[in-house]
Amino acid sequence: SFRHDSKDKETNVQVLLRCRPLSDDEQKSNVPKVVTCNEHKKEVVVTQTIANKQVDRVFNFDKVFGPKAQQRSIYDQAISPIVNEVLDGFNCTVFAYGQTGTGKTYTMEGGMRNKSGDLTAEAGVIPRAVRQIFDILEAQNADYSMKVTFLELYNEEITDLLSPEDNNSTRPIEEKIKKPVALMEDGKGSVVVRGLEEESVYSVNEIYTLLERGASKRRTSETLLNKRSSRSHSVFTITVYVKETVIGDEELIKCGKLNLVDLAGSENILRSGAREGRAREAGEINKSLLTLGRVINALVEHSAHIPYRDSKLTRILRDSLGGKTKTCIIATISPSAYCLEETLSTLDYASRAK
Ligand code: ADP
Ligand code: MG
Repeated sequence: SFRHDSKDKETNVQVLLRCRPLSDDEQKSNVPKVVTCNEHKKEVVVTQTIANKQVDRVFNFDKVFGPKAQQRSIYDQAISPIVNEVLDGFNCTVFAYGQTGTGKTYTMEGGMRNKSGDLTAEAGVIPRAVRQIFDILEAQNADYSMKVTFLELYNEEITDLLSPEDNNSTRPIEEKIKKPVALMEDGKGSVVVRGLEEESVYSVNEIYTLLERGASKRRTSETLLNKRSSRSHSVFTITVYVKETVIGDEELIKCGKLNLVDLAGSENILRSGAREGRAREAGEINKSLLTLGRVINALVEHSAHIPYRDSKLTRILRDSLGGKTKTCIIATISPSAYCLEETLSTLDYASRAK
């Protein structure tokens, strides 16, 4: 159920909030909790103590998932309807947005599968979406094909997470994980990422294998370059082609695309002008994260100008943001008192996107 605003124009942006549980370590050291989730009221309450007084701030979302929410229930309630849209020929995007350590990767990837290839309770959005797409197409006995790409965006530079392994052991690993890819406008409003591996896939397990390869490549680059994963975005895209009907010699192909995006940690976004100058010098501006926020605000406000062109992430996702597409933002937070400031800024950002 996507919202309609007062002018009854569809905004097609859905914002969910997920609060992770305290970790075992946090529990052992009695970290105070400042977040209360009310799933039924779709409400999050943050309790601050200001001048010895308790002050509550309340935020509302399209859906709220508290610390006990299971991967499966988030998928079934929020993501499964989006996957149905993809199979109907729409382009859709799911973003995980939040401070590093709040569960973006857990929500998007989670545990992928067990040894026999089945989904586990820990499996996140990506493996579940892949499973659902195949299950539906197989059940319909559809004539279909599918392509996947998996890329990482770091410092406005694209790395292909699916490019074949480079087995030349003498080359430094920085070079092995890097392969030049370029963005090209196709003249029809879409952007093509040239040089990216596009794998045609025919089974769930084939996609899982690719995913695991990509995810482990991302982790390799993470240990190599300190903090890289908190500053990088990963974009997993499945494009589905379904043969609809044949009229005479004409084949009608329905094409839908699903982008599943694990964003850079939101602590990398800039909030104050004063900080902006210093961060720019240090090369720390996360242009794509900043621009994504502006693009989503412009879409929600039905602005005439949507600044897609201002970052690589928004250029790559251009044909999947706005217009007839569906967008879902899963904002993730920690319940801990020590994360209060970042939690409030995530809640502010996410509630502005509605
Ligand atoms: P991020 O990608 O936002 O930096 P992670 O997904 O890596 O954060 O999560 C940080 C840690 O918290 C991981 O160990 C992860 O397994 C755990 N975690 C996150 N969310 C949950 C959750 N909802 N339930 C249980 N564990 C979680
Ligand atoms: Mg992560």
